[in-house]
Amino acid sequence: MTDLFDPAHAARLDASDPLPTLREQFLIPRHGDGEQAYFVGNSLGLQPRRARDHVEEVLRTWAEVAVEGHFTGESQWMTYHGLVREQLGRLVGAKPSEVVAMNTLTTNLHLMMVSFYRPTPERPAILIEAGAFPSDRHAMESQVRFHGFDPARDLIELEPDEPNGTLSMAAIEDAIRTHGHRLALVLWPGIQYRTGQFFDLARIVRLTHAAGAMCGFDLAHAAGNRELALHDSGVDFAVWCHYKYLNSGPGAIAGCFVHERHANTDRPRFAGWWGHEPSTRFLMGPDFTPTPGAEGWQLSNPPILGMAPLRASLELFDAVGMPALRDKSLRLTGYLETLIRQRLDSVLQIVTPAEPERRGAQLSLRVAGGRAQGRALFDYLAENGVLGDWREPDVIRISPAPLYNTHADILRFARTVEAWRDAA
Ligand SMILES: *Cc1c(COP(=O)(O)O)cnc(C)c1O
Repeated sequence: MTDLFDPAHAARLDASDPLPTLREQFLIPRHGDGEQAYFVGNSLGLQPRRARDHVEEVLRTWAEVAVEGHFTGESQWMTYHGLVREQLGRLVGAKPSEVVAMNTLTTNLHLMMVSFYRPTPERPAILIEAGAFPSDRHAMESQVRFHGFDPARDLIELEPDEPNGTLSMAAIEDAIRTHGHRLALVLWPGIQYRTGQFFDLARIVRLTHAAGAMCGFDLAHAAGNRELALHDSGVDFAVWCHYKYLNSGPGAIAGCFVHERHANTDRPRFAGWWGHEPSTRFLMGPDFTPTPGAEGWQLSNPPILGMAPLRASLELFDAVGMPALRDKSLRLTGYLETLIRQRLDSVLQIVTPAEPERRGAQLSLRVAGGRAQGRALFDYLAENGVLGDWREPDVIRISPAPLYNTHADILRFARTVEAWRDAA
């Protein structure tokens, strides 16, 4: 029988993988004389080598021609945000006119809620998951208050109903039915950051629309991780960041999707000059004519230096394509799961759903014995160059990124856990 814990086996899996690793396209943090096994792409993705070229191109243009950079060459700043439009659309399953790179995630969430959360006394409520990412909860709570409603009543938080803290579709369906008549908005994660659970977006949209409410998604952990079909799923709006699976650097410019059906909406919005229709923007008139589609929500001329690394990242995603990346992700995370179940289940309990279609790359692992044991294992892993991330009180998240993680990385994680256990 094949020994899955044999380094030669992991090496064979890597050598024969249908999608050879693109690891050499990235700068991998060092550990001693070697490299880290870096599993924190769900928090901050690694730097693509080409990011520096794109940033340096902007710096060079700025140095050489300054203001003329707005109109010089193929990557002129005036239309720079358009350079990523097609690739972004393919990444999330949208038409190019439905996506835009702008601002940061939480800012975009607010901008979208200004347009798509329009509470009335009869329908004031937002449905979210209990334990939502704090920034999302702060944004929603403050929006409810801003409109003069009471979050204690009108921010409805759905508690997990499954043993590991995950949510069944039946519970979501039930909540939308029960509260449907009072809902203005359902705001859901694509992937829950703590548990790694992936949700059926199209189904949540159908239920929400049947209840007469708007449906938006936070795709921070889903974009660049799972294949998405935002247009066909009928999602009203979505927001995500580009510094996690999308490797565009700390605080990178974020993404935003607005469905085509809202392209020419007369809903209220917070406007800025970059959202103005480009052909007349520079007439500098007082009246606002929005660009049809997602670009109509832009406020400022974009931070070109911040957008440069995103180009490098999207070039890689686009060259491989999400279907091939997802296939590789299934193999890598599947190997991780098998190794844990085979030999490490006395130490690690997998919190993330077991069905691959209900998760992405990440496995959330609860460490047996509680917080002190968990921290001890986490620190031991880091000392040995294996980077995961820590979620209180006792969870280590491990996210193999199919662009740069290998089966060898995963085996190194498993063998390091084993060594720690056996030394205890
Ligand atoms: C990472 C993450 C954020 C971070 O928000 P920023 O505005 O980019 O700082 C927000 N929400 C979720 C669900 C996240 O995973």
